[in-house]
Amino acid sequence: MTFPTAPENYSPTPDLLRGKTILVTGAGDGIGRAAALAYAAHGATVILLGRTESKLERVYDDIEASGGPKPALVALDLATATEDNIIHLASGLAQEFPHLDGLLHNASILGERRPIESASYASWLDVMQVNVNAQFLLTRYMLPLLQRAPTASIVFTSSGVGRTGKAYWGAYAVSKFATEGFMQVLASELENTSRVRVNSLNPGATNTAMRRTAYPGEQPTDNPAPEEIMASYLYLMGDDSCGVTGRAFNSR
Ligand code: NDP
Repeated sequence: MTFPTAPENYSPTPDLLRGKTILVTGAGDGIGRAAALAYAAHGATVILLGRTESKLERVYDDIEASGGPKPALVALDLATATEDNIIHLASGLAQEFPHLDGLLHNASILGERRPIESASYASWLDVMQVNVNAQFLLTRYMLPLLQRAPTASIVFTSSGVGRTGKAYWGAYAVSKFATEGFMQVLASELENTSRVRVNSLNPGATNTAMRRTAYPGEQPTDNPAPEEIMASYLYLMGDDSCGVTGRAFNSR
């Protein structure tokens, strides 16, 4: 099966995201960090959400040093965040921002990689909490702010194992199938009733901490750096993808 990508040689304009406010989860490291920096470099005010405050502060400083719009920082552990925490976050953001133009669901954990027959239920629950339940809560309570934007984009992060199941990928793979299903349900609900588009994106093998953990035998530099796969992240977040919804993208 082939999946769409951003248009070939897609070249976003420097002000693609000017005036937009975009929430990125897992913004302190890896692909989320690169997306936050790329969005800010194209003019967006980025809300940096993640669990390790010191990493978010470094991204914040990098954006300020490069002259991007002043970001916002939200230190929140999605493994323990409650519904009340997310409601509180949404009402705080609604006081600060007139609308939200983008939501990149990027934070995920890998969990155990072992056969189902010996998998631990505790680890299964952890993965579902971060990779699925937290996405539901954030989506559910950010939707009113997203619906206030002239156009808005929700991007879910998928994986190859969320499209074809693979032995030993356990809860992580199942959480990514759930993510694809969530994307489809939401896109279908919003397609004719709002200006919010909803898509999923599989970054593909990328040189990050998660990838190095999942594939310790790989030469890390054989995979692209997160900064090298940003065209699709920009395409899906900016107005060039208006009208595109309900689709499962690959970054390349
Ligand atoms: P990393 O592990 O490098 O980064 C994940 C980010 O998510 C980190 O900033 C991490 O925070 C944050 N995070 C993890 N758990 C929580 C939590 N409980 N609360 C808040 N933030 C959290 O992963 P990648 O950058 O590689 O992955 C990004 C996305 O891309 C994921 O959804 C992943 O599944 C997907 N993906 C990645 C591929 C790859 O090859 N890299 C391939 C296919 C899909 P902290 O820094 O504090 O740990």
